[in-house]
Amino acid sequence: MQNFTFHNPTRILFGAGQIGSLRREVPQGARVLLTYGGGSIKANGVYDQVRKALEGFELLEFGGIEPNPTFEHLMKGVELARAEQADFLLAVGGGSVIDGTKFMAAAIPWHGNEWDIVSRHMAPRAALPMGTVLTLPATGSESNCFAVVTRAATQDKIAFSSPLIFPRFSILDPETTYTLSPRQIANGVVDAFVHTVEQYLTYPADAPLQDRFAEAILRTLIEEGPRTLADPTDYAARSNVMWCATMALNGLIGAGVPQDWATHTIGHELTALHGLDHAQTLAIVLPNLLWVQRTDKREKLVQYATRVWDCQDGNEAVRLEKGIIATRTFFEAMGNPTHLNAYAVGEDRFGEIVDRLQARKSLPLGERKDITSEKVLEILALAR
Ligand code: NAP
Ligand code: FE
Repeated sequence: MQNFTFHNPTRILFGAGQIGSLRREVPQGARVLLTYGGGSIKANGVYDQVRKALEGFELLEFGGIEPNPTFEHLMKGVELARAEQADFLLAVGGGSVIDGTKFMAAAIPWHGNEWDIVSRHMAPRAALPMGTVLTLPATGSESNCFAVVTRAATQDKIAFSSPLIFPRFSILDPETTYTLSPRQIANGVVDAFVHTVEQYLTYPADAPLQDRFAEAILRTLIEEGPRTLADPTDYAARSNVMWCATMALNGLIGAGVPQDWATHTIGHELTALHGLDHAQTLAIVLPNLLWVQRTDKREKLVQYATRVWDCQDGNEAVRLEKGIIATRTFFEAMGNPTHLNAYAVGEDRFGEIVDRLQARKSLPLGERKDITSEKVLEILALAR
């Protein structure tokens, strides 16, 4: 096992009715800026529940945070928070609202060019405290120190991190997810699945506990994901998927083990250039990346096929391939295509993706840093 520091300071309040706890969780006397997206929280009653829980608090609002939140729009929220002297941010929504609010938390007290926090990974020395009410289980953003922000002008979609942007608390009420569309449900399950795989399917690190945590999350998503599609108000299924998504990216399973993240990095370019949903890109890249990297990842791929997909028959090569096919079949069954032809992204655009990764100095990728531009092109060609 590798050395690690594990610290997750986010308080989780889980279950139906927990939005009422906001009164106790938000600091008394705070000037709260409530942030949200395109209006789903108004349509499904979550907004009303939040306002009711915070009656008596000074509440400002900043809405309109887009899926794949943009620096340009978020800066309007930063200006508002500065002008109104907000001192607590409350993000109500999915990963985009939470990520966007994390950026705002770091940008509000920042002196200088705020985009440097993202593009140059300049460490913020201060950030406003924030909490979240999660309405879409997927990203783990509700309990981690990462955020992904896009600069629309240059189509740069970039992740940054800081220990200062961990939410103080997050409220996870599975009932808030009943109104998600099948597309967003599928996206959430696939995103949580791929987060787990990126920290598990690398090379053996003598870390059996982390492996078994990861395998438990994957097996639970495989069981519960289809149940959430079959019955949108299945509370047990929604709860299990919600908790899986948080556990997949809150630091626990990734402590002390090698990590990949090539699927996410390539996927970010597909979103920035072609507008695919985050998890749509992951479903396309991952099965093809696993195939291209099957020699590097051989031991863990066999373990994955055997323990997660119960592939017991055949030699290692057969089981390994079955595991990759099962992954592809699962994504397709959830409703996420695993080929680019579903989205009209032509082969002629592959070079641009590689050029952008190169310009960002992101290459080579992967846990062994051996995914070169040639391999990215090979993965994309397989994904046609
Ligand atoms: P999202 O972009 O936050 O939301 C997608 C859509 O779902 C939005 O249109 C939103 O509508 C809607 N929605 C949310 N909750 C809903 C509900 N309960 N009922 C009905 N509709 C609802 O999706 P996401 O997958 O959570 O976040 C994706 C972003 O997170 C990407 O930018 C990705 O790169 C990033 N990400 C971050 C991390 C991290 O660790 N921080 C990890 C992976 C990915 P409204 O806008 O109207 O609310
Ligand atoms: Fe993700």
